[in-house]
Amino acid sequence: MTVRKVHIWPDPVLQSTSESVKQVDDSIRELVQDLIDTMEHVGNSAGLSGPQIGVSKRVFVVDIPAEHNDGNGTDGPEAFINPEIIEKEGQFEWDEGCLSIPEERGKVKRAIRVIMRYQDLNGETQEREAFDYLSGCFQHELDHLNGKLWVDYQSALKRDMIRKKMLKLKAGL
Ligand SMILES: [Zn+2]
Repeated sequence: MTVRKVHIWPDPVLQSTSESVKQVDDSIRELVQDLIDTMEHVGNSAGLSGPQIGVSKRVFVVDIPAEHNDGNGTDGPEAFINPEIIEKEGQFEWDEGCLSIPEERGKVKRAIRVIMRYQDLNGETQEREAFDYLSGCFQHELDHLNGKLWVDYQSALKRDMIRKKMLKLKAGL
């Protein structure tokens, strides 16, 4: 069990495009376990991505109780490797938070329904259809792999305000 430090925005690793995983091997399975351990340790989060623990690789984990939104969740913590959205439709707006931007929230528009293609822990290609909450989580986590955070959807004014708060937080003020 390894709980890793969660990087706080602004941070170069959070604002970079992560590398594709060439092969799903033990090092990737270890990264996934670290992500799950860290997510469970910190709590209060439905997902966590590689760059958030300083590993610029296209991997994220999501844990949404299956009973959420009529069974549209995950079956315990699940890993998604090299994810890409191959279909999306509709739009909804909700409030997002992020472990890399503690205690802040902001409105973001997301597709209501997505189909995501990814590799599982055995390197097998899978597809998953998701709605609402799970769909929004997939899009939020996938954004992380492209160096994008929910603050990037906010006004420059709000983003700057949050940046100042986070810099203070990181400086221990
Ligand atoms: Zn996040």
